[in-house]
Amino acid sequence: MHLLNADLHSHSNVSDGTLAPETLAERARANGVEIWALTDHDELSGQRRARDAALALGMGYLCGTEISVTFAGETVHILGLGVDPDNAALQAGLAVTRAGRRQRAREMADGLATVGITGAFEGALRYVSNPDLISRTHFARFLVDSGVCSDTHSVFRRYLTQGHPGYVVHRWAGLGDAVRWIRGAGGMAVIAHPARYRFTPTEEYALFTEFIAHGGRGVEVMTGSHSHTEQLKYADTALEFGLFASRGSDFHSPTESRVELGSLPDLPGKLRPVWDVLQDRIHRPGPATDRTQSQASA
Ligand code: AMP
Ligand code: MN
Ligand code: MN
Ligand code: MN
Repeated sequence: MHLLNADLHSHSNVSDGTLAPETLAERARANGVEIWALTDHDELSGQRRARDAALALGMGYLCGTEISVTFAGETVHILGLGVDPDNAALQAGLAVTRAGRRQRAREMADGLATVGITGAFEGALRYVSNPDLISRTHFARFLVDSGVCSDTHSVFRRYLTQGHPGYVVHRWAGLGDAVRWIRGAGGMAVIAHPARYRFTPTEEYALFTEFIAHGGRGVEVMTGSHSHTEQLKYADTALEFGLFASRGSDFHSPTESRVELGSLPDLPGKLRPVWDVLQDRIHRPGPATDRTQSQASA
């Protein structure tokens, strides 16, 4: 049986990836992706470019975003898949979520200065394509290129995570708000990479039950962030909670990402894929002669 190659989680330079949406589309297509979603952090401004590029290459496309949420004191990421990027309430919610990033970045730089790393704010900004979206990843790239650490993972471990000098406590969107914005824009809310959160079993149970109570319907099972054991664990979680399952590489860059676009193992057969219920949200390429028309009406 042919299982669809869907990659529903990736980042462009509109957030903290390094490639332009069009370049990512080409890379996804070259790797055999059949349905792709660009899911920039707290942003929708790359959606039109990503969709047009995907359709021109003959690839299906779901509009997406990855919303930063604070739940039980931890940052949780909620994917919105199949959203309408022109939805005003979603756009407004994301604008508010992005708004604190610049001030947070200044505080991160102040923290790094206390351990002798100066000029980090200006340094990180040199790696930013979208001035609205400065993230820890941009600091990590600056610290690698300036020789402080050898790779981005060690920057996070030594400087940018809780208890380290460049870490700043930040309040992101509420879980219920994020799920509401996504649903209001016609999309499906999906818990991204659940194994990454440092929750107790009780807190994790609360995340899933509250997420479902707000109308969330999916969980990422196959992701670049999960080990094989974690894939199996969250496949069971999806079944236990009756959630649809998603698959996405979380690709950010050719040199930093562990998993290439479109190259994760398939979802276990017992799971219901999110794309089964998002069929009417998928933008599909028309026959070659109709492409201009299908884009215009999409
Ligand atoms: P921010 O939204 O500014 O907090 O940045 C979060 C981003 O940092 C994530 O989306 C990842 O791209 C990246 N990130 C988080 N933890 C790590 C890590 N341990 N190693 C490499 N990148 C990380
Ligand atoms: Mn990221
Ligand atoms: Mn994430
Ligand atoms: Mn991501």
